[in-house]
Amino acid sequence: MTLEEVKNKEQKYMMHTYGRFDAALVSGKGSVAYDESGKEYVDFTSGIGVNCLGYCDDGWVKAVSDQASTLQHISNLYYSPLQGEVSEKLIGLTGLSKVFLCNSGAEANECAIKLARKYSFDKYGKGRNKILTLVNSFHGRTVTTLAATGQDVFHDFFFPFTEGFDYVEANNTEDLKNKFTDDVCAVFMELIQGEGGVMPLTQEFVNTAEELCKEKDALLMIDEVQTGVSRTGSVYCFSQFGISPDVVTSAKGLGGGLPIGACICGEKLSDVLGPGTHGTTFGGNPIACAAAKEVLSRVTTPEFLSEVAQKGEYIREKLSEMKNVREIRGMGMMIGIVTEKDNAKQIAAKCVENGLLILTAKNLLRLLPPLNITYDELDKGLSILKTVMEE
Ligand SMILES: *Cc1c(COP(=O)(O)O)cnc(C)c1O
Repeated sequence: MTLEEVKNKEQKYMMHTYGRFDAALVSGKGSVAYDESGKEYVDFTSGIGVNCLGYCDDGWVKAVSDQASTLQHISNLYYSPLQGEVSEKLIGLTGLSKVFLCNSGAEANECAIKLARKYSFDKYGKGRNKILTLVNSFHGRTVTTLAATGQDVFHDFFFPFTEGFDYVEANNTEDLKNKFTDDVCAVFMELIQGEGGVMPLTQEFVNTAEELCKEKDALLMIDEVQTGVSRTGSVYCFSQFGISPDVVTSAKGLGGGLPIGACICGEKLSDVLGPGTHGTTFGGNPIACAAAKEVLSRVTTPEFLSEVAQKGEYIREKLSEMKNVREIRGMGMMIGIVTEKDNAKQIAAKCVENGLLILTAKNLLRLLPPLNITYDELDKGLSILKTVMEE
């Protein structure tokens, strides 16, 4: 199929929910994807932070295809050995206590929201159900996670939204204190706002949120759907802030390209969601779990993590030498670039033309390269970016 044919079919048969770049990708290896004509694209996106081991990594392919030819799905009516293995690994990596496995970031966040409300209901009864999220956050596309998302553009059309959210200005501790009324049962936030423009929270703000949550027995819930799975240089970003959250949600990179999400909670929440209170047909699917097991065994070693940090530094160094770069934000291999000319969208489109896949977030350029990208691939991509930035 030619690009035109591919585009015609999507135009004719699909809901037009996505603005897409002008490329149809059909295969990939490592950090390089290929379109239908054989043109090569260096990938600085990982499919929005998903393919943390790049395209068709040998170990990942073997884990997934072995599992596909062994057992592809059982319902959650039966025990699944892989679910326990993935959960054990997540508990070891987070120091938390229990895991619920699901299929996406929004689903992991839905679970966190239900957990917070039921914990509070069980202990304090009705009426204490407000969850504070942050202005400019992003938590997903379901009606409830849209309500949790602190951006007015997402609060249109689909009324009525789920009640019980209030929005605190990120890094404004006064605003947090003022909005932390007695009906608050949880604070839910990203430590680096991803879709909101690669905006890290300050240590002071995060510490204040943790203190207030402790003082008022509200849950500190961290959305690590984008920052998790070694993206920022630690397995989960919260450890770099030195905090102990009650709930952590994870998805995107967790399956390295297959849909899996996790809501991970601390000891005091272990028994809040009992039989019949929550569930999913696909959640914890054996193939997705086999993928997650492979990913978690690969990206969490000290050597791998220090390479992520080093590559992050390397990218930053190269970016700082480019024209049109005003500011570089983020941690590890989650990087946002404010351009002097405020032309991120045009640059991203031009990069695709020139063979580089790159993301935007608000008016920033955003890089989420595969965590195992080679320096050769990095140099190739950075040189395309430099050419486009300096045109
Ligand atoms: C992508 C994202 C989500 C939504 O994840 P989906 O898998 O698309 O449902 C939620 N929170 C954050 C921080 C994200 O980056």
